[in-house]
Amino acid sequence: MRQSQLFARTSKNAPHDADSINAKYLTQARFVDQEMAGVYTWLPLGLRTLRKVEQIVREEMDALGAQEIFMPSLQPKEYWETTNRWEGVDVLFKLESQTGKEYALGCTHEEVVTPLAQKLVESYKELPFATYQINTKFRDELRAKSGVLRGREFRMKDMYSFHATQESLTAFYEKTLEAYVKAYARCGLKVKVVQASGGIFTQNISHEFQALTDAGEDMLIACENCEFGQNSEVATYKAGDTCPKCNGSLAQMKGVEVGNIFDLGTKYTDAFKFDFTNENGEKQRVLMGCYGIGTSRLVGAIVETHHDEKGIVWPVSVAPFHVHLVSLRSKDEAVQSRINSVAKEMYDGLQAEGVEVLWDDREGVSPGEKFADADLIGLPLRLVVSEKTLKEDSIEWKPRNESEARLVEIEDVVEEVQEMMK
Ligand code: ATP
Ligand code: MG
Repeated sequence: MRQSQLFARTSKNAPHDADSINAKYLTQARFVDQEMAGVYTWLPLGLRTLRKVEQIVREEMDALGAQEIFMPSLQPKEYWETTNRWEGVDVLFKLESQTGKEYALGCTHEEVVTPLAQKLVESYKELPFATYQINTKFRDELRAKSGVLRGREFRMKDMYSFHATQESLTAFYEKTLEAYVKAYARCGLKVKVVQASGGIFTQNISHEFQALTDAGEDMLIACENCEFGQNSEVATYKAGDTCPKCNGSLAQMKGVEVGNIFDLGTKYTDAFKFDFTNENGEKQRVLMGCYGIGTSRLVGAIVETHHDEKGIVWPVSVAPFHVHLVSLRSKDEAVQSRINSVAKEMYDGLQAEGVEVLWDDREGVSPGEKFADADLIGLPLRLVVSEKTLKEDSIEWKPRNESEARLVEIEDVVEEVQEMMK
């Protein structure tokens, strides 16, 4: 992508109402634009990152054998009455049709997926199975805050599993827990796995996945060494205690919940009276689990944990582009034409190898502004082509997470970039 064509230009100023690092940098670098409190447009750079995060999550859910579907956000009131959640869930947005009929705007999808599975599944032979979607959720949050961390309209991957036996549910639950940790790690995030106390969606066992950041709303007692953690309201341990898992030391930390998983038991299948026919031809209640990852919140959590005073420092796996190619101006026409041709060659050569390049080809923008933009946008590698570098038949190579730049010979660049991305 040529930066001269990119929708939209970065902003010189941080938004004055930004209450968090992710709100500040994602807005200033034009990854997102706030339409109103808690509601964002995802601009080209932001959408590329969001899609990469969602693709990683998708691959990990597919690897569990779950199948992707896409469910409606517009949901009938009756289903929400069946589960006693029309009145029970305070964040539920309710709509009225011109006919007077009422609908819920999906804040979660148990009320859709449970009757769906009930309609389509009859026999033990069709169990267990898991299905998921990546969709927009709506929640009437009293306080939308911290940029994309707590929105009123946001993205979520939600998976639901259906089982004939508790053993089957527990086994799938444990596999999912591992898959979650892997998905976060692939996004560059270390998480604490916290056994949760409950909440509106839970009945049985449940775990939260917490990314450590001061922007988070949750207080934890967690291990400084391994992934063990507890919510501090319910904690059986305190700061200074020894970790029960690894003998490391426990400390108080702040986190943001980037996902959670629930063993729902028969909570929803009781409400809908969802039975299957077992091997003896008898009716038996289906067991259910649900598993969420807030994908847009995850993007925010990555920014909260990967930045410096100049901007974002994206992990390669979720960066909107891998390389920021920056070509500078020269007053000498012959040199300028060489800069252009070397930059173009590099742009084409890298892309031919599958490297995603944002080329700052803008004219009339000073080197200082270009570098400030590159730092703000935060792509993993900056390559500069200028009169100075061409004197050495080189380009300047600077990883975003290192302070020193070095020269790399032009003919070696494509190979070295591929090496870096491994
Ligand atoms: P929280 O405790 O943060 O309010 P929750 O426990 O209500 O979230 P779930 O209903 O389990 O969350 O939703 C699954 C995931 O969706 C959460 O783990 C979180 O990552 C994300 N999520 C929940 N609410 C929001 C929101 N308002 N904005 C962005 N992401 C959210
Ligand atoms: Mg929660």
